[in-house]
Amino acid sequence: MSQAVTAEQEVPKTVVRNRSAYSKVIHRSDTESEEVRPACPVRGSERGYIEVDRDAYVSHYKLCENPECFGREWR
Ligand SMILES: [Zn+2]
Repeated sequence: MSQAVTAEQEVPKTVVRNRSAYSKVIHRSDTESEEVRPACPVRGSERGYIEVDRDAYVSHYKLCENPECFGREWR
């Protein structure tokens, strides 16, 4: 099953990505944080995260697979 099928419904308009040009993953934004950062525990980037428009990235970036972002519960 492709994640892209449901992406438009499940992915908010604004997502976050690592500032690193080598990162090709978009995350759900952690709305409880004043900082821009992913909802999932994948943090620790020195360069930080930026908010980006979903539509500009969803076609060529992978959705983060952590359950806090766009993944499914692990089975
Ligand atoms: Zn994530």
